[in-house]
Amino acid sequence: MLNIVLFGPPGAGKGTQSERLIEKYDLIHLSTGDIFRTHLKENTPLGILARTFMDVGKLVPDEVTIEMLKAEVVLHSNAKGFIFDGFPRTNAQAEALDELLQSLSTEISIMLSLEVEEEELKKRLLGRAEVSGRADDADPVIIERRISIYNQDTAPVKAFYQAQNKLTAIQGTGTIDEITHRLFAAIDAL
Ligand code: AMP
Repeated sequence: MLNIVLFGPPGAGKGTQSERLIEKYDLIHLSTGDIFRTHLKENTPLGILARTFMDVGKLVPDEVTIEMLKAEVVLHSNAKGFIFDGFPRTNAQAEALDELLQSLSTEISIMLSLEVEEEELKKRLLGRAEVSGRADDADPVIIERRISIYNQDTAPVKAFYQAQNKLTAIQGTGTIDEITHRLFAAIDAL
């Protein structure tokens, strides 16, 4: 299996690039943010709970997120591989993902970390709010909080994968096509 962690701060381009990677490598795309937003729209108990964190730009608690992710992976047991987009966001989530994949006799192949400067992220998120309709993209205070939680809780996940020699940093600026080609090159070099 080819299992990719597509990593990076909010606004780094994970969703856009995931679309291209799933097409080329025939992978299942698991975006925890997208799954939460589907629950939110359908007003499920999980959606109602997640909303209280998402609306203010905080992380949904690990136990809830990990259980949801596990259920999604198990649903696709015949997959050629997965792109994990927006997950793991904490070291506890990374450990849980390793355990889950181990129980399925597989593992993470590579972590691709999209690197984009903070000023550029803020610009992109505010621009995205106009098309995405996402409340958490429209408010500069919430954007600020999401970026600071990324720096504090999520960025350390890079060291987790670096210790396994799986981290590849990818310049996340330039045209969408340029970034896609950098990602393809890193995967094809595996
Ligand atoms: P995203 O679409 O990845 O920007 O995620 C939107 C929001 O969903 C985040 O700000 C969090 O509130 C929540 N979320 C998504 N993925 C996770 C995760 N792996 N752990 C905790 N919360 C998450």
